[in-house]
Amino acid sequence: MQSFLPGPAGLVTNPFQDDKLHEECGIFGIFGAAPDAAAHTALGLHALQHRGQEAAGIVSFNGERFNSHRALGHVGSAFSAEKVMANLQGASAIGHVRYSTTGETILRNVQPIFAELVFGGFAIAHNGNLTNAQRLRRELVSCGCIFQSTMDTEVIIHLLATSRFLNIQDRLVDALRQVEGAYSLVILTQDSLIGVRDPHGVRPLVIGTLKGAPILASETCALDIIGADFLRDVEPGEIVIINERGITSRKPFTKAAHRFCIFEYIYFARPDSVVEGTSVYEARKRIGAELARESHVDADVIIPVPDSGVPAAIGYAQQSGIPFELGIIRNHYVGRTFIEPTDQIRHLGVKLKHNANRANIAGRRVIMVDDSIVRGTTSTKIVEMVREAGAREVHMRIASPPTTHSCFYGVDTPERSKLLAARHDIEGMRAFIGVDSLAFISMDGLYRAMGEPGRDADSPQFCDACFSGDYPIALTDQSGGGNAVQLSLLAESA
Ligand code: SF4
Repeated sequence: MQSFLPGPAGLVTNPFQDDKLHEECGIFGIFGAAPDAAAHTALGLHALQHRGQEAAGIVSFNGERFNSHRALGHVGSAFSAEKVMANLQGASAIGHVRYSTTGETILRNVQPIFAELVFGGFAIAHNGNLTNAQRLRRELVSCGCIFQSTMDTEVIIHLLATSRFLNIQDRLVDALRQVEGAYSLVILTQDSLIGVRDPHGVRPLVIGTLKGAPILASETCALDIIGADFLRDVEPGEIVIINERGITSRKPFTKAAHRFCIFEYIYFARPDSVVEGTSVYEARKRIGAELARESHVDADVIIPVPDSGVPAAIGYAQQSGIPFELGIIRNHYVGRTFIEPTDQIRHLGVKLKHNANRANIAGRRVIMVDDSIVRGTTSTKIVEMVREAGAREVHMRIASPPTTHSCFYGVDTPERSKLLAARHDIEGMRAFIGVDSLAFISMDGLYRAMGEPGRDADSPQFCDACFSGDYPIALTDQSGGGNAVQLSLLAESA
C-alpha cells in the first residue's frame, strides 16, 4: 500500500512501490537485564527491521515506573539519541517495529501501546491482525470504552480492562478467548514479561536467554545480534509468563490446527533465522531446487532478483547445474524514504533499486528467480531492464505458487483485484510480464520443499491462504460481522 507521508525537509516515504507483500510487525521483549534492557531491545528491533520500517517503539519498566519512546522511522534513528536511551531505564523492556498498512503512520498508532489499568501498568506489542476487531470495538464503544488509536491491538487492552476476572493472567486469557485472528504478543507488566501465540500459531515467536535474562522475539536473528541463546519456539496457543520465579507456561485455549504462515519461509523472515526448527535459508534453497525439478528450461545462466530471490536461485542452480551469477545488482542505499520525485524521475523507480549487470546477461538465455509476484509491476520493469542488457531469452521462475488472495493475518497485501494472479492465468501473466516462459512452484512442490509429502487438502500443514484462498481463521469483519462505519478506522493493524 503506497503511503505518501510528508516528512521533514520535503521527504516522503514509499515514493516507489516495491511490489512486495510486507510483514507488518516485529516484536521483542527482555526481562531482568538491568541496566541494558532497552539497549538490547533496540538492537533486537534493529535485527527485526525487515519486519517493519515505518515506526518503532520501546517501553521499559524500572521497578517504579514505565518509560516509553515511540517514533516514526527506522530503529537506528528512533533510538540513536543518548537522551532517549537514558530515559528508557529498567531491567525489562518490550519493543515493536511497524510497517503501516494503509493511510498515515501516525504516532498514536505506533506500538507498544501502554495503559494504566486497575492492576497497574500494562504495555503490549502485537504482530498479526485480529479478524474480529471491528465487531469487538463496536461492542466496547457501545459500553463506553474510549479508544485512543485505530489499531486492532487496542481492543485487547479494553477487553482486559473490562474483564470480570481479578488477576492479569486470567484477564488476559479472558480477553484473548474473545479475539479471532493471528497474534504473537509480547506484554510487559510491573512484574512480568508475557509472550503469547494464537492457537493456530500463524506468526512466529521464540524464547531465548542472555546470561539468564529471558527474551521473546519474532525471529532468532534478534537473539543472534545480542549474543543470546535460542531456547525454543513459543507454541501455538501457549502463554509464556516470565517473572522473578522463572518461566511458566499455560495453554488455556481450545487446541486448533497448527497453521504457521508458509510465506515466512518464502519471503518475510530473515534468511539467517531459524523458524519452527527450520533454517529459512535452507528452506528457500530447497524451494528453488524443487522449482528446478518442476519447471526445467534450457538456459545459460540463473540470476536471482535480489535480495529475496537469492537463496531460491542458488537452490535452482544447484539442482539444474546451470551457473548462478549476479545479473541484477541492488542498490542498498535506496531506503523507504526518498526526496520527493518529480514526474520526470518517477519512471526511473525500479532503476534506483536495481541495475542489470550486463556482463552476465548479454547474449545469454537467462532464468530469473524471484520469491513471488504481487502486482507484477516491478517484475515487468526488471524484465525490460534485463532484455535491454542484451538477454537472448528471459525465463521467470517463482519460488511460491501464484498469489491469488489477500492476507488478513498481519501482512500488507493489495486488495485481491490488484493481484496479478487473481486477474490472469499463467499465460496472461507471462504476457503481462513479457517473459519467454513463466512458471511458479506448485503447492505440493512447496510443501515437499518444507519436508511434507505434499499439501494435505483436508488439513493443510501451514497457512497458505494467499495461494489457496483457504483461510484457517474466520474473517468475521470481512464477512460483515464488523461495523462498516468503523471499517476505515481499523484499516490500520499491527
Ligand atoms: Fe501467510 Fe499468506 Fe497465510 Fe497471510 S494468508 S498468513 S501471508 S500464508
